[in-house]
Amino acid sequence: MAEPTLFTRIIDGEIPADIVYQDEEVTAFRDINPQAPVHILIIPNQPIPTVNDATSDDEKMLGHLFVVASRIAKEEGISEDGYRLIVNCNRDGGQEVFHLHMHLMGGRPLGRMIKTSDPL
Ligand code: AMP
Repeated sequence: MAEPTLFTRIIDGEIPADIVYQDEEVTAFRDINPQAPVHILIIPNQPIPTVNDATSDDEKMLGHLFVVASRIAKEEGISEDGYRLIVNCNRDGGQEVFHLHMHLMGGRPLGRMIKTSDPL
């Protein structure tokens, strides 16, 4: 059987994390290396390595990630000022953990997503 991902080990309680929300489909916890005052990862309980591996069977859960993000943003008090949701995929996307996850980031102005000086 495949090794459990780092994030599965968090869900299983093997690795400690600051879990802010959990239900039968998804779990959300604070990023260990926050890039903003609020930086929370929302992940499916059943691991999907990357967005490339998502199928139509995952549509309900993937939509649920957004609903949970919206709920947590309200709880964290950042919904009105705004926030950013990011899902990185593979090398060019900068993905480091191959258990699909949505970053919820906010609590300060985050600026442009990509620097305008970056090459196309
Ligand atoms: P990505 O680069 O999109 O794959 O994001 C992976 C994220 O997981 C990074 O922001 C890391 O800081 C975060 N991370 C790695 N290990 C842990 C951990 N044990 N607990 C919480 N967040 C973690």
